[in-house]
Amino acid sequence: MKIAIASTKGGVGKTLVAVNLFYAIKDIIEEACTLVDEHIQVPNIYHYIKELPQAEEVVVNVRIPEIDQNACTFCGRCVHYCAFDSILMIKDAGHIKVLDDYCTSCGACVYACNDNAISERTEALGKVSSYALDKDRFIEGRMYAIRPLASPIIQEVNEHIKDDAISIIDTPPGSSYPFAESVRDADFVVLLAEQGKAGKRNLEANIQLLLNMEKRFGVLINKSGLGDDGLFEYLQEENILVLADIPYNRKYADLHSCGEIIVQQDAHLKQLFVSVFDKIRAGVKEGQA
Ligand code: SF4
Ligand code: SF4
Repeated sequence: MKIAIASTKGGVGKTLVAVNLFYAIKDIIEEACTLVDEHIQVPNIYHYIKELPQAEEVVVNVRIPEIDQNACTFCGRCVHYCAFDSILMIKDAGHIKVLDDYCTSCGACVYACNDNAISERTEALGKVSSYALDKDRFIEGRMYAIRPLASPIIQEVNEHIKDDAISIIDTPPGSSYPFAESVRDADFVVLLAEQGKAGKRNLEANIQLLLNMEKRFGVLINKSGLGDDGLFEYLQEENILVLADIPYNRKYADLHSCGEIIVQQDAHLKQLFVSVFDKIRAGVKEGQA
């Protein structure tokens, strides 16, 4: 069972929920439990795992096109084929180059060129590290430099997730392609939200995407008590499952920011996460029935 933890923006509590859900359930379930960090641009779950063992690492490479200006006839086919506006061509100046920072390695330009003017170089995009934690595991995807190319790393992370385990995946924030890739195989998505108008607006984009993807999901409200009740009313009107609300508590924020696992020090929060897990499991079973 793959459980994706998601939010439209950073700072809503995704990592807190992923880490504490993992520690709340890992010793009370029979299955192995895998904690997964797919927030590949700034992975930070490793801060919360004391004594990380030696990792098994896989480097994720991509192919970046390079254009030979001497062989190029400036026909413009590659520019036309590139859906990401990643090729700059100034025909009169005899200049053409790939803008690496925008290239998604799709390979369309190589296919388009009839003059063999485009070759490809291999570049390390990031890595996937896998750690054994007794019966459980921690898997981290990490991008070396910020590029618009999240999917090869997320796909490699997903390859490492075993089907016989319960996996809890901290997804990239937002509702764009990396998020969609991260939740693609999820059996259930936990959407994090905050009260207030902005929280409701942010949530709507992800809800629409998950409905389009026909995903099972529920909303977990973090720092509840801060803001008006509009979010609760909206969720009720739309008949959206509310998994729980975590009340705002300065102690939780302090423990989390110090790299502590809150559920190991707060029995009430541990019980809340166990009940969230029970609701998720029931939701997944209902979907399979
Ligand atoms: S590989 Fe794709 S994104 Fe990159 S320059 Fe070529 S067509 Fe554009
Ligand atoms: S398709 Fe090939 S020949 Fe045409 S502009 Fe691009 S690199 Fe040059």
